[in-house]
Parts: sequence; C-alpha cells; structure tokens
Amino acid sequence: MSRSDDLFQAAQVHIPGGVNSPVRAFKGVGGTPIFFKRGKGAYIYDEDDQRYIDYIGSWGPMILGHAYPPVINAVREALDNGLGFGAPTAIETSMADKVCELVPSMEMIRMVSSGTEATMSAIRLARGFTGRDKIVKFEGCYHGHSDSLLVKAGSGALTLGEPNSPGVPAALAEHTITLTFNDIDSVRQAFADVGDQIACIIVEPVAGNMNCIPPVPGFLEGLREVCDQYQSLLIFDEVMTGFRVALGGAQAFYGVKPDLTTLGKVIGGGLPVGAFGGRKEVMSHIAPLGPVYQAGTLSGNPLAMAAGLAMLNALCEEGVHEQLAAKAEYLTEGLKVLAAKHHIPFTTTCVGGMFGLFFTEATEIKGFSDATSCNTQLFSRFFHGMLKQGVYLAPSAFEAGFISNAHTEADLDATLQAADRVFADLTR
Ligand code: PLP
Repeated sequence: MSRSDDLFQAAQVHIPGGVNSPVRAFKGVGGTPIFFKRGKGAYIYDEDDQRYIDYIGSWGPMILGHAYPPVINAVREALDNGLGFGAPTAIETSMADKVCELVPSMEMIRMVSSGTEATMSAIRLARGFTGRDKIVKFEGCYHGHSDSLLVKAGSGALTLGEPNSPGVPAALAEHTITLTFNDIDSVRQAFADVGDQIACIIVEPVAGNMNCIPPVPGFLEGLREVCDQYQSLLIFDEVMTGFRVALGGAQAFYGVKPDLTTLGKVIGGGLPVGAFGGRKEVMSHIAPLGPVYQAGTLSGNPLAMAAGLAMLNALCEEGVHEQLAAKAEYLTEGLKVLAAKHHIPFTTTCVGGMFGLFFTEATEIKGFSDATSCNTQLFSRFFHGMLKQGVYLAPSAFEAGFISNAHTEADLDATLQAADRVFADLTR
C-alpha cells in the first residue's frame, strides 16, 4: 500500500469521492489518485517521495515551474502585511494596469477568485449589456460550473460522462445554445434563426477541455463577424490560454479581438484568482459604475495579486513563449515518431505551451466528435504506464497537457524514453 492509497481511503470519509474537484479522482483512467506534497520546477513529489515530471502544472498556471522563486518571494513579502482587508489596495491597480497593457482588448478589468466566477460574471454582464438572455457555447468547451455554462461541457464533466449536470434548471439551460466547435456555418445558421436574442458567444479560443483542439483558420474570425453583425458580444474564455499560448493570449496569437475576456489560474501564479474584462463601454455596466451586480469578499486578495503580478512580470521576459512553444513541439513531435515506430494509432496537437495527445487513426482533430472517438482505454493504459515511469499526465483523455519553462531538454528526453517503453508495452 502506498501512502496515497491510505490517504485516499481516509479522504473519502468526509470528502465526496475523496477529492475537491472530480477529475482528480482518476475516474477517467481508473486506479487511486496520487497525493502530492511538494513541487519544484518541472517536478512534483508524492507522499512517498516519488518524483514525477509534471505535465499538468496545476492545470495551467505553473508556466515557469512549481515554486518559482520570484512568485514565492512576492507572496512571502505580501504575507507579512496581512492576508486581506476587503478594501482597495495599490497592488490591485498595478495588476489591472499590467493585464490591460498585455491584453489591449481589456480596457477595464474586474478581479474575481476563480475561472468559474469570471465566466459566470462575464455572461451576466453580456446579458445585462445587451438585454438578451440567450448565449452560445460550443460542445466540449468547459467554462467552469455555473448553471448557464454547465451544458454539454467538457473536461471533468465529460470525463465522468455527464456533460449536462442534474441541478441545472431546464428553464435556464434552455437559454444556452450549444453548437459545434470549429463549425462556423452552424453559428451563422443559429444567428440567422435567433440572432437578435443572443447576448454573446463564449468560446475557448483553443479548446482545452476536450483534449487540446486549435481553432481552424477562419473560425474565430467568423465568430467576430457574426457578433458584429448581430450586436452580440464575443467572449474569449482565456482561463487556460491567457498568457500561455502567447503573452497576449490566444487573441494575440490569432489576431482576433473579443469584446470580453475571462482569465483565471495563470494570473494568480497558482493562487485562486480569476478576472474578466474588456471594452470600457461594456465594463461600465458593472456595479458600482453600472447596474449589473457582481462582487467578491476575497476579490483582489493581496497575496494572490502579489503572486500574479510577479508571474506576469516574469512572463514578460524575452523568449519565454518561444521556449514554451518549442518545448511543446519537441515533446509532441517526439511522441508521434515513437508511436509510429510502435504502430500505435496516435496523433498530437499543440499551441504554444498547451498540447493534446490523441489515440486515434484520425490525422486531423477539429472538434468534439474527434476527441470523443479516441481510444480512451489505450489512453488509460498509456497514462498508468507513464505514471509508473515517473511521468504525471492529466488523468483524463479529455484534458490538455501543459508544459513549463522549467522542463529541461533532459526532462523531455526522459519523457520520450519513458513513452518508448510504454508504447512498446501497449502493443503486447
Ligand atoms: N474556463 C476554462 C477554459 C477552464 O479551463 C476552466 C477550468 O479548468 C474554467 C473556466 C473554470 O475555472 P475554475 O476551475 O478556476 O473555476
């Protein structure tokens, strides 16, 4: 018995499923979740002191590796001044200025404490601003677990096979129109039918919750055109892609400007933070400037702001995103070559520091049906094989992978050598 086995048993007594977020329970791959006690750089260490090369990075924020010293030091410094005041602090303005400088479509920004809060608030704002109730999302995209958005969602919900959750009133879900990612014609059709009732489109500009699926050329541009035509708002959910696929996020990478952007994870450097922001005209509708209510006791928490600002400053250094992209490409290309060597049906995607692994004969991955038709059993065997070799991948075939700049060439080569052995086992 490992210590993780013992801890998982104990955890299940008072925590539903033994975890505080479902995908951690390993339901998608089977087996017992690993309990971790420490992370440093590209590595995380379990309760038995076993070291793993980590490709989750706390689901995205650890772009510079775990316990990145400037972030840790910034939190330490802030700590001595107290944990929060529920009143304005100077660092909130520094943070707002920094984000708006790096993401120019965000003329104003409001801090919240999670990605879920960011998207939920952005949707309310879009509805309040336009006076319309309907929203458009895409199947397999996950935007957190608020009621309007937990309809045909991806990620953990998809892993558990429950993309629609009980508890979401049908009367509310009715206002959520779910379309096919990367299919601009379906969007044009929906708007032709009820465009004057649609408040907004919300999209992950690179889908990261049904594995990692980049937008096809013209898709994001098409969304922008449709929104302009019908005076609906375009919301880019950059909780995953923000500051990761490029310094200015996916909107800079693809050159498409949304009306509103939601952020999370990364801007807290690993502490609980989210944010939403965008055009001043729209953001001026948020309380206390305007009538759309939104609030948070812990919003703009000084520790989280200190961590996030240190993180953003570090990400501004020359070459960070080029390095990330080169590493992700090296890893995914290497995995493809090895899979081919072992005659395993397999392909990959990557955008900047995000990547996807697909056990499939298909060579092109464009949407939800491509992701869900992959061989999840083969993925599970690969996942557990890699785990035994000391490589920690996301415990679900429907999650993106994340690389950090702390991953060295030696780490990537060790990962590829491990994959070579595991692919060989899969053929037995
Ligand atoms: N939006 C996207 C694109 C996400 O990937 C996530 C979480 O994974 C969320 C929103 C929700 O963020 P949180 O888990 O911080 O509530």
